[in-house]
Amino acid sequence: MTEVITTITRVMHDIKRRRLEVLRVVDLTPRMRRITLGGPELAGFVSLGTDDHVKLLFPQNAEQAAALETLVPGAGKDNGPQPEMRDYTPRRYDLNTLELDIDFVLHGDGPASTWAEQAKPGQFLHIAGPRGSMIVPDIFDSYLLIGDETALPAIARRLEGLAANRRALVIVEVENGKEQQVLHSAAQVNVIWVLREGGKDNLLATARQIQVPTGSLYAWVATESKVSRRIRRVLLDEHGLDEQFVKAVGYWKLADSGEE
Ligand SMILES: Cc1cc2nc3c(=O)[nH]c(=O)nc-3n(C[C@H](O)[C@H](O)[C@H](O)COP(=O)(O)OP(=O)(O)OC[C@H]3O[C@@H](n4cnc5c(N)ncnc54)[C@H](O)[C@@H]3O)c2cc1C
Repeated sequence: MTEVITTITRVMHDIKRRRLEVLRVVDLTPRMRRITLGGPELAGFVSLGTDDHVKLLFPQNAEQAAALETLVPGAGKDNGPQPEMRDYTPRRYDLNTLELDIDFVLHGDGPASTWAEQAKPGQFLHIAGPRGSMIVPDIFDSYLLIGDETALPAIARRLEGLAANRRALVIVEVENGKEQQVLHSAAQVNVIWVLREGGKDNLLATARQIQVPTGSLYAWVATESKVSRRIRRVLLDEHGLDEQFVKAVGYWKLADSGEE
């Protein structure tokens, strides 16, 4: 009999480094590129949580590139030259076809975004992890999911896993109307697309104005670090949500964002 998980649990995994080949490159929107990686080293890959992340490794010189083959993920700088590493969500994986989709926001300069801009089938990318999975079982009446483009892969995974009797209120900030994606779910989903269009604090303002769904609720927030922290405070202080069921994470850091 399959065990039914009724509490939020954390599961740790052995961190494995994998060398994967770029199989396909598809633009989902002008700023979001899906890169399908694959190959025999994907065998055994596991991602149990909808907001899991893998480390993507981007060597910046020949020495770092050479060290990739022997790199022990998580072993630190004593382990030799370290490449730049960035966190990305396994959007979809299939162990039958040995494929892994990663959706990249093309935001401009940065090892990950720059790599994604030039990626072509036949190139290779090293990944490591996931190190762990936070499993939030589908036990809540409602889900409040708030984020920007970087959160869309995790939000899409969460929505795809919800049962038909669940409700989800989703607020996603994107650059403009062309960045809206179709999100699939069996649940009753209300998506509010917040268009950035040069504006500031639109996501925060929208989070303030919403009517929080009734019943048991799990809230998840992922966007720029400072904004994420502010939205968390809004959810706790202004909407009175239960802290143990609110997860707010910084997915990237604005270069000039000083700590509060
Ligand atoms: C758990 C987790 C999962 C994530 N999953 C995804 C995912 O599936 N897809 C995805 O695209 N991102 C995802 N991210 C965010 C991604 O890791 C960051 O955006 C990362 O900084 C990109 O690295 P980079 O090398 O392109 O830029 P960096 O070298 O990190 O930054 C360079 C410059 O770009 C700016 N910058 C970085 N990201 C953004 C952005 N999104 N928008 C505008 N400016 C930015 C920085 O402020 C900096 O000035 C995730 C982050 C976390 C923590």
